[in-house]
Amino acid sequence: MRAKTFPHLTGLVLTILVVTASSCSSHETPAEKSQTPTETSSFREVSGFQADSAYQFVADQLSFGPRVPGTKAQKACADYLESKLLNYADTVLRQDGTVRTYDGKLLPAINLIASFNWQAEHRIALASHWDSRPFADQDTKNPEGAILGANDGASGVAVLLEIARNLKTLRPDIGIDILLFDAEDYGMSQVENSFCLGSQLWAANPHRSNYRADFGVLLDMVGAKDAQFYWEDHSYAWGGRILNHTWRMASRLGYAKHFIAQRIPAIIDDHYYVYRGTGIPMIDIIQYNPQTGFAPYWHTHDDNLDAVVPETLNAVGNTLFHLLFNPPNL
Ligand SMILES: [Zn+2]
Repeated sequence: MRAKTFPHLTGLVLTILVVTASSCSSHETPAEKSQTPTETSSFREVSGFQADSAYQFVADQLSFGPRVPGTKAQKACADYLESKLLNYADTVLRQDGTVRTYDGKLLPAINLIASFNWQAEHRIALASHWDSRPFADQDTKNPEGAILGANDGASGVAVLLEIARNLKTLRPDIGIDILLFDAEDYGMSQVENSFCLGSQLWAANPHRSNYRADFGVLLDMVGAKDAQFYWEDHSYAWGGRILNHTWRMASRLGYAKHFIAQRIPAIIDDHYYVYRGTGIPMIDIIQYNPQTGFAPYWHTHDDNLDAVVPETLNAVGNTLFHLLFNPPNL
């Protein structure tokens, strides 16, 4: 992603698309009348989110090496993520497509979509990107080679996998869709729309026609020690009410040191393309400091397992897990 205001709108760079249904379990819930809890209704405590499990999901992803589109690691990690989601979700869809990179390469992109309570009318979309950057362009010591992307990629996916693991046995009445986007980090900041190729692919071809969610939450770089998350300005523009509700929930759960209710500049990230393509107001929970920008590990080889701590994964994951059971008015 890049910190920037709106780019000019240009044509999508996407081409081929195949969506295959990987599985559909037999225990899908009947069309239940979705609850619409109010912000004044009693708060529901839910337990089960385990920091150590989330941390292990980060390590599992890193074991494949850099998850760069067009590599063996991409395919192996996609298969791993798909198999994990198949264990937990009602349905898992795999969206195989081809994207054109800023330098003209045509590369495979694999988006994965796991759904819970797929017939529910009210839905929340949870998203993260699972690829890692093919360059270490911010690394002053060694800019060569792809990065592991422990925070920038794997951390958000790990939180969503841990939420999915819990949703297998404990779930709200609303529907939940987990969107794992590929090819987010293959861009160059000088080239507009060169990041977020997987979410652009999905937004132009959603996994279900006329797909709607009441709102969405994107996770990006959510595992660093003492990470702080602010109100990113695109999120504020189309999801201010969701931001306020989520940050208040984090504070209630004891994570106020991580969640700072203060606006920061707009960032072009997957949530921007989701909103632009589908109108779903998706907010971005992303580590970005208003004084210093992205953290020192960002787009360097220091973005390895040492850059992630269970405590921060837990703060974000437990907040998000509670948000599913205590959403704002839908
Ligand atoms: Zn990145």
